[in-house]
Amino acid sequence: MLEIKNLQVKLEEEDKQIIKGLDLTVETGKVHAIMGPNGSGKSTLSYVLSGKDGYEVTGGEALLDGEDILDMEPEERAAAGLFLAFQYPVEIPGVGNMTFLRTAVNAQRKARGEEEMSSTEFLKVVRERAKTLKIDADMLKRPVNVGFSGGEKKRNEILQMAMLEPKMCILDETDSGLDVDAMKLVAEGVNALRAEGRSFLVITHYQRLLDHIKPDVVHILANGRIVKTGGPELALEVEKNGYADILAEVA
Ligand code: ADP
Ligand code: MG
Ligand code: MG
Repeated sequence: MLEIKNLQVKLEEEDKQIIKGLDLTVETGKVHAIMGPNGSGKSTLSYVLSGKDGYEVTGGEALLDGEDILDMEPEERAAAGLFLAFQYPVEIPGVGNMTFLRTAVNAQRKARGEEEMSSTEFLKVVRERAKTLKIDADMLKRPVNVGFSGGEKKRNEILQMAMLEPKMCILDETDSGLDVDAMKLVAEGVNALRAEGRSFLVITHYQRLLDHIKPDVVHILANGRIVKTGGPELALEVEKNGYADILAEVA
């Protein structure tokens, strides 16, 4: 599904290398978690994959189902099936949440050569999926994320994901700033989307999210590279001992 080979990324503004030869393969239908110290390049990786400006790819490739996505526009990547749930969801004043979702869904359908979703069908689906995430009708009517609490913003990201039905979902610290109940809702929303043809890359600082979203594979990202890969037990080891032992081991 996603195959990243020797990826190297620097900041456009400064001569600073952030991703330094990163290799990562996420198989179809699997959930991979990425953990790692602050500043190791986790958000940068998710931004580069989704096509955010400000980063320069200086080497390597990122293939989604065999197609290099790094030369694509962000909307082309989305049409190809990539979705990023932001660490810091953006507020969009003046744009109703429902309008935003419907526009995004139909733009993506159009890009894929599919028919638009009718308004009746859309309403039915959005209400159903919002309910799972405990997003009420009022939140659907308000401008995107404006005045939403931290938990509401993150749940809204998962609603976007549920509506767009991506193949490859990247969640960047979707658990940060959430209380236990909000985190469980987010995890339930993600688990409801787990499917054979869909993969997840879950970036997180904390094992507790992985108690609810059970990963198949756990990676440690440090200093711009994947330095260790293992099973769910690797996340437990980090929770218990921090990163120091692992970093010393790979140094
Ligand atoms: P993580 O998500 O793992 O905490 P980031 O990807 O956010 O790490 O950041 C990796 C490194 O790159 C950090 O040292 C950070 O300060 C730096 N960095 C990322 N984006 C920028 C930027 N736009 N300007 C300056 N430094 C940046
Ligand atoms: Mg980050
Ligand atoms: Mg660009």
